Amino acid sequence: MEKNQSWTTEFASAFKDLSELHRFLGWDHRPGISSVAKAYPLFIPQGLARKIKAEGPDGVLAREFLPHESEIDVSEGLADPIGDKAFLKAPQLIHRYRSRALFTPTSVCPVHCRYCFRKNELDAGHDLFHRDFDRTLAYLSGHPEITELILTGGDPLTLSNDRLRTYLAAFAELGTLKDVRIHTRYPVILPQRLDAGFVDLIEEFGERFRTLSVSVHVNHAREIDGEVRARVGLLRKLPVQLLAQTVLLRGVNDSELALLELMEELISMKIRPYYLHHPDQVKGGLHFYLPLEEGRRLYQTLRDQLPGWALPQYVIDIPEGHGKVGAYNPEAYEFSGRLISRRGDLVEHREPQLHS
Ligand SMILES: *Cc1c(COP(=O)(O)O)cnc(C)c1O
Ligand code: SF4
Repeated sequence: MEKNQSWTTEFASAFKDLSELHRFLGWDHRPGISSVAKAYPLFIPQGLARKIKAEGPDGVLAREFLPHESEIDVSEGLADPIGDKAFLKAPQLIHRYRSRALFTPTSVCPVHCRYCFRKNELDAGHDLFHRDFDRTLAYLSGHPEITELILTGGDPLTLSNDRLRTYLAAFAELGTLKDVRIHTRYPVILPQRLDAGFVDLIEEFGERFRTLSVSVHVNHAREIDGEVRARVGLLRKLPVQLLAQTVLLRGVNDSELALLELMEELISMKIRPYYLHHPDQVKGGLHFYLPLEEGRRLYQTLRDQLPGWALPQYVIDIPEGHGKVGAYNPEAYEFSGRLISRRGDLVEHREPQLHS
């Protein structure tokens, strides 16, 4: 473990320039790629770039994080596939499901995932003004039915430990929030972020809330190496629940073997698989999409090989604002063509046109 290197140094030295990255990787510059990187900017920390290089141009990490010519095809897909904006109830606060709300204090991430469902929203908001945060707090105290707050983004760990402490302390003061969850991709992308100050933070707030969870966004066992295991290991003895969320992605983890390897790896790190997300139909990201029926078949093979506690829930965000629901239909492989929304409505599921 590189103890003395601060994570902010690693963040600041990330690759943002395509030709510099290509020089580092030593691969040929593919024609057309630079226009993709202009439309959807590149951001890859050095440590991750080394892993991409070691795996090679056809590896899963290259597919997840390097620009791809398919991104330029925006004829299909949705700019905002989730449709959460209608539920923005206070600054950076999305309240959609009764008992829990999302708090998104930053839109900055440690990497730009090429499949990201927010890839068409390029607002670079980072941190809140005092008076905005006061409004967020006022909404929360006016809505005591919200008992869990989920910090997401962007990636909330982009904020400093001090900033996080300020937010968490204010949330603890409210007295209405029992549970806090932090969604982050840092543990696998920039593991140095799990530093001593963060460990202190978890120790402190793990006691102040009923539960404190860190939910790691991880899609493939190859994202995990010795450094990741060591850093996550620092959290294991603390009062924190470690969870994982995975996006099912064509060409990355859409095989029985890849998913099983990932779940096995997570379990050995004492991380509990929580959600497996069906890919969103995002504009510029459809090369990662696979039909729901394919996903269901794959999930069925996992059910046979993993106990319930090691099996993530397979979920889909029904496009255009219908919300997150179970994607697996235990009665049949064959998909009826309709999903049941939380309100009990039958919503027709339209698959996007896939070109390749
Ligand atoms: C996924 C999600 C949540 C959290 O849902 P859980 O089922 O508790 O993980 C909360 N709000 C929104 C808008 C979401 O999309
Ligand atoms: S970390 Fe999450 S929000 Fe950030 S680019 Fe990746 S998928 Fe998108």
